[in-house]
Amino acid sequence: MALIVQKYGGSSVADAEKIKNAARRIAATRDEGNEVVVVVSAMGKTTDNLVSLAYQVNEHPDDRELDALLSTGELVSSTLLAMALAAMGYQAISLSGAQAGITTTSSHRRARILNIEPRRISKELEKGSIVIVAGFQGITEEMDVTTLGRGASDTTAVALAASLKAEVCQIYTDVEGVYTADPRVVAEAQPLEEIGYEEMLELASHGARVMHGRAVELGELYEVPIQVSSSFTGKPGTLIHGGVSMEVRNKVRSIAHDLDIAKITVVGVPDRPGIAAAIFEPLAGAGISVDTIVQNASVDNITDLTFTVASGQEDEALKVVEPIAREIGARECVSDSRLGQVSVVGTGMQNTPGFASRMFSTLSEQGINIQLITTSEIRITCIIEEDRVEDAVRALHRAFRLDAKE
Ligand code: ADP
Ligand code: ASP
Ligand code: MG
Repeated sequence: MALIVQKYGGSSVADAEKIKNAARRIAATRDEGNEVVVVVSAMGKTTDNLVSLAYQVNEHPDDRELDALLSTGELVSSTLLAMALAAMGYQAISLSGAQAGITTTSSHRRARILNIEPRRISKELEKGSIVIVAGFQGITEEMDVTTLGRGASDTTAVALAASLKAEVCQIYTDVEGVYTADPRVVAEAQPLEEIGYEEMLELASHGARVMHGRAVELGELYEVPIQVSSSFTGKPGTLIHGGVSMEVRNKVRSIAHDLDIAKITVVGVPDRPGIAAAIFEPLAGAGISVDTIVQNASVDNITDLTFTVASGQEDEALKVVEPIAREIGARECVSDSRLGQVSVVGTGMQNTPGFASRMFSTLSEQGINIQLITTSEIRITCIIEEDRVEDAVRALHRAFRLDAKE
């Protein structure tokens, strides 16, 4: 008998019919003789609606209250799923993150899992129950409810799979696995049979929201195989794991895009030691995650420092950086939030020339101006105008021949 963790995303439990559909899938896994732990997201757009409600009653809602509010979305779906299973004659119990033993840091809205004490889950499994855990949430030492960041039910699922030493973590979503690009943007995108953790992490942290980045990180760390499939079809989908066969051909594996990028430039910065620390330490302290950082070569000891953040954090970042810029004698801060990024990813690109030039010439043929470029060994990212990101993804998908079946 294997222990399997399954996670159902928001669109897979969006209404009563879909909850019953998920329950049938869970029941089938149980009927095959497995122990099943299920992690569930809030129904459909529930989390967005709760965020919007909070801002309607208070322009600056308190993070602790916001977390307590947002966590209710997953309580609704987990309890309904347990009821749907019971109606089908299966023994099932729902647990909140706290009841499931998930303790986190106290950084509300972006808490990290510190520990999982799965005693209650194990006890319920021993009694023969299917255990349904509310995703995306945990509890601090002070017993305050926290949430783990948008999209983080995936992370709850992989963390539980690691803690319970599950055989596999199955992620059920609204597409048939991980594709060569977002199938909602590129009609010809192809589902991948398998992908390595490293490549998946680059994709997830550059906008491919099919998996939460921290879930992939945990999967790699604890060697949890992650199977991404559709909750609506019977296809196997994509296996994210460590033993991916090396590509014979050098190849780009997939293209990620992100429409929510803001760029902030501190202009006329005196070029002396300690300046970068003076700017980036307070940003980190304010919980603002900075992505790309570029500093120009200085002329007459004056330089420009550019960095990117998620569009939603532009105002917060400016509030932190503007006073510092004045203090260090910089000329001004300018920002642009109408940016996005497109990234090509593949271990096949490692140490192989030609990928960057093909990417740049493809964008140039489309008349797309590149504002910033960053790379890792297995990724090239271009920051471009938000309006042109989807054109760029389609053109690159053609240029790297990703529509050809594997
Ligand atoms: P869930 O609610 O199940 O967690 P998400 O909306 O978070 O689902 O993630 C699934 C979505 O991710 C898909 O509907 C798709 O539009 C998007 N997506 C982005 N990049 C990719 C990709 N490379 N492969 C598959 N889906 C992708
Ligand atoms: N419900 C949360 C969100 O919408 C968590 C998740 O779906 O993974 O971000
Ligand atoms: Mg998701």
